[in-house]
Amino acid sequence: MAVNPKPQERSRAAIINAVHRAARQEQFLEVVSAEEARRRFAACIDRSPLGAETVALAAALSRVLAADVVAPVDAPPFDRSNVDGFAVRATDTAGASDAAPRRLALNAEVVACGVEPAVEVEPGTATAIATGGVIPRGADAIVMIEHTELIEDAAAPAIDVRRAVGSGQFVSYAGSDIARGETLLRKGARVGSREIGMLAACGLAEIGVVRRPRVAVLSTGDELVEPGQPLKPASVYDSNGAILAAAIVEAGGEPVPFGAFPDEEVALELAMRSALDVCDIVVLSGGTSKGAGDLSHRIVSRLGKPGILVHGVALKPGKPLCLAVIGDKPLVVLPGFPTSAIFTFHTFVAPVIRARAGLPPESARTVTARVPVRIASELGREEFVLVSLVSGEGGTIGFPSGKGSGAVTAFSQADGFFAIDALAAALDADSSAEVTLIGDAACVPDLVIMGSHDVALDVVVSALAERGFLARTIAVGSLGGVAALSRGECDLAPVHLVDPATGICNQHLLGPGLTLVPGWRRMQGFVFRPSDTRFERLSAAAAIKAALADPAVLMVNRNTGSGTRVLVDGLLAGARPAGYPNQPRSHNAVAAAISQKRADWGVAIEPVAQMYGLAFLPIAPEEYDFLLREARRDRPAVQAFLDVLRDEATRARIRVLGMEPATH
Ligand code: AMP
Ligand code: MG
Repeated sequence: MAVNPKPQERSRAAIINAVHRAARQEQFLEVVSAEEARRRFAACIDRSPLGAETVALAAALSRVLAADVVAPVDAPPFDRSNVDGFAVRATDTAGASDAAPRRLALNAEVVACGVEPAVEVEPGTATAIATGGVIPRGADAIVMIEHTELIEDAAAPAIDVRRAVGSGQFVSYAGSDIARGETLLRKGARVGSREIGMLAACGLAEIGVVRRPRVAVLSTGDELVEPGQPLKPASVYDSNGAILAAAIVEAGGEPVPFGAFPDEEVALELAMRSALDVCDIVVLSGGTSKGAGDLSHRIVSRLGKPGILVHGVALKPGKPLCLAVIGDKPLVVLPGFPTSAIFTFHTFVAPVIRARAGLPPESARTVTARVPVRIASELGREEFVLVSLVSGEGGTIGFPSGKGSGAVTAFSQADGFFAIDALAAALDADSSAEVTLIGDAACVPDLVIMGSHDVALDVVVSALAERGFLARTIAVGSLGGVAALSRGECDLAPVHLVDPATGICNQHLLGPGLTLVPGWRRMQGFVFRPSDTRFERLSAAAAIKAALADPAVLMVNRNTGSGTRVLVDGLLAGARPAGYPNQPRSHNAVAAAISQKRADWGVAIEPVAQMYGLAFLPIAPEEYDFLLREARRDRPAVQAFLDVLRDEATRARIRVLGMEPATH
C-alpha cells in the first residue's frame, strides 16, 4: 500500500522536483540558420493578398485597393470657367487693348456656379460668368473681369474688352482633370487623403479594399501584468502585447488582442485554439525557450498539421523563435524578451502580414556607418546590433545601444541595426557597417551628448527642444563619453567622476581643447529602508561602521568607473563586506535592490532614495558637469545649450528633481 508523504514532505518533494526540471533545460533539437527558417516558413504559407471587402470612403484611409479604380465620370463634368469674368467668342476680342477696346453687348444672363446656361453667346456678345460656371453654348474663352469695363447703359448694357484672349483661355475642359474611363488608382495602392479626394471627386462613396489580415496577439508568462494595473513583486508589465499590436497595424494588419496568459497549459491551449479559429495569423510571445514553464511550443506541437517548422534559429537576438503553421494559418511564438520579440516579428512576421494585406515588401533603407567600438559576437549565430546614428567629422557613426535583448528601449530608441556574420567572433573597432534604418531614422540631431545619463539632463534636452534644437543623448558612462569626445563623435560629454588621488570631481578628465561646463550637483548618501532600526538615527559614518560590524548585513555596490564607486571604496577603506561584488550600474538599481530587500544598504543620490521611499544619510555631493570641445562652442546648438543651463526656468525644474544647478 502506498503511503502518502506528510504534507510538509510532499511540498519539499515538489520543490525539489521543480528544481530538477528547471536545471534540466531541454536543448533545442535543431537550430537552423535564419535563411533556412525563412525558407521553411515560406514553403508552407500562402502570401497572396486576402480577398476584397467594401468600405465607406471615410473608412478607407490607409487601406489597400483591391482592384484598379476606373473613373466612372469626367472631372470636371463640363467645360468651366477658371475665373470671374465674361464668356466670349475669342475672335470677338482680336486686337483688343487699352487703346483700342472692343465693345460687346451683354446677354441677359449671369452664369453662377450650379446654373445651367440658357442663352447662347452669339457673335458680338458676352455673358457674365463666375469661377466654376458652365461655359455657355457659343463661347470658347473667358475674359477676366479685371480686363473689362462696364458700360452703364440701362437699355443696352455692354462691356469694353481691353485685352485679347485666345480660344480656350481660362477654360477647364470636361475630363481634363479626370477622364471618364481612365484608370485613376491602381490595385495595391495605399489609400491616403489625396486618393480619398480623387475617389470622392468621381462620386464614389465606397471602395473595394483588401481585407486586413486579423492577427491574434497573445502574451504568456506568470509574471505579466497588464499596463494600468499595479505591479506585484517579481512581476513586469506586458509590453510585448502593446508593441506587437501597434506593429501589426503598421504592417497593414488588424490586431486582435487576446491579453496576457499565465503559464497555464489548459487556458493557454484554449486561447490558442480560439485565436486560430477567428484569426488569419497567430502571434504569441514568451514561453518559447526550452526551460521549465515554457509551454508554448509544447501546446503548438499538438494543435495540428503541418505543425512546428522551426524551433531555434541561429540568430541573436531571437534564438528561441518558433515558427509553425496550423492548417493554413501561420502561428509564431516569439521570444519573450522585448527586443528579441520585436526583432523577430519584423524579420519573420511583418513581411507575411504585409503580403497578405496586399502591400509590397518594405524597401530597406540603408546607410554606411563607422562603428567606433569593438563588439564581441557569438560564433555560429548571426548577430544583429542595434545602433544610434550620429554624424561625426568623418561621416556617419553608429553606436551600439549596449542594452540587452531584454530592453524595450533598445529597439524603440535605435535608428537602425547591422548584422555581424555568424562566422565572425567579433566586429573590430572602426569597422564600417551597412546599417538598415528603422522607423523614420536619420533625422540628424543638432547636438550630440554622450556620457553619463542623469534625469535632469532630460530637463535640459526638453528645454532645447522648446528652442527648436534636437539633442540626442547616448548613455555610455562618464569614461565612454570622454572617449567619444576625444574621437570627435559628440559635442558634449556629461561626466561625474571623482579623482581618487585628489578627491576632486571631473577636473582630471580635462585634456587639450576641452573645457568643463558646470552642470549641477546632487547629494549622495547612505541609503537604507526606513524600517531598518540598525541604521536609524546614525550619521552616515556611524551607519557604515554598524553595517561593517554586522555579518548579517548585505550591501549593494556600484560598477567600477562610476563616481559613486570611488566614493564607496573610500568609505570602505579596504573592507570587502558581503554584497560587495553585486555591482549594478545605476542609482535606481541600488535603490530597487534595497527596497526589495535584496540588499540592506548602498550609496545613491538623494532624489532617487526619495523616489523609492528609502531613508538617506548625506555623505558627499556628486558633481555632474559637461566636458565641451572648445572648437564646437560657437555652434548654435551648443550656444543654446549653454543658454539653457543659465536659464532660470530650467534651473528651477532641475531643483525640483533634487539637484542644485551650478552658478554660471
Ligand atoms: P520567456 O520567453 O517566456 O522565457 O521570457 C523571457 C523574458 O521575457 C522574461 O524576462 C519575461 O519576463 C520577458 N517577457 C516575456 N513576455 C513578455 C511580455 N509580454 N512583455 C514584456 N516582457 C516579457
Ligand atoms: Mg515566460
